[in-house]
Amino acid sequence: MDFNTEIDKEIAYYKNLNPKLIDLLDFFSRLNQLQYLSIKQPYVFTTSKDDALKQLQQDKYLTEGKQWFINKQDFNNIFREIIKLLKERGEKTEVFENLLMELPEKIPTNPEELIKWANQHQNKLEERGRNTLTYILWQALSIFYQNEFKQFRNIDYQRYWTKATCPVCGNLPKISKLLKDTGKRVLACYLCWTEWPVHRLVCPYCGNKDQDKLSYFYADGNKAYRVDICNACNHYLKTIDEKQLGRETILELEDVITYHLDTLAFSEGYQNPLNLL
Ligand SMILES: [Zn+2]
Ligand SMILES: [Zn+2]
Repeated sequence: MDFNTEIDKEIAYYKNLNPKLIDLLDFFSRLNQLQYLSIKQPYVFTTSKDDALKQLQQDKYLTEGKQWFINKQDFNNIFREIIKLLKERGEKTEVFENLLMELPEKIPTNPEELIKWANQHQNKLEERGRNTLTYILWQALSIFYQNEFKQFRNIDYQRYWTKATCPVCGNLPKISKLLKDTGKRVLACYLCWTEWPVHRLVCPYCGNKDQDKLSYFYADGNKAYRVDICNACNHYLKTIDEKQLGRETILELEDVITYHLDTLAFSEGYQNPLNLL
């Protein structure tokens, strides 16, 4: 079964389980579809599977040290479609439509560079607009990355990669799960949504391994959904315990439906560096 069919099945499952999530899941579903509808030139980043494995064996993530750019027309299309979705939800989007004209000729694939470009244009925006622009750019980049790197989804990362940063794009994880059968921890990248296993709990944000400074708490006593916290850097990582849940999950979707865990973690004084993007 292909990955998209699996995501659609999961979306249907959660809509049925919790009708309050329907609106949110519809939005997520349409965002997720953009990688199939808006991208005309897939695979800008090309490498053979052998070269990809060599790169990992040298302890480098797949795109590390490689110069590559996003096809401007494709990025434009994704950007425009996200604006349309926001407009339908009542957001004022004219200012973002104007920014489309100012996109650079070579769209950087490095999120920091893209945010730097946004910062140069954000003086025209109110605070809410600034947050929305960052959101649009991050989502557009993420949609592009997901489409681009699904070609590497089947690599057995466990054999090559032990770091807490993404083996494909080098970015940080946002959420994790403990596998249903083995209890092994799997992290998911916030940008390309690659999932990869890690050996033990290390704080992905500061590298802290001191188990005395790592802890967790549950939301509403539900042991399937927990918030792992690091008292060395004060960051949190959402974790789904599949054994408790009794089913397998897709972390990209779990991140959407567990927004209440973010709220809870904030209220307890913890932060996630990725929420500040
Ligand atoms: Zn990644
Ligand atoms: Zn930490």
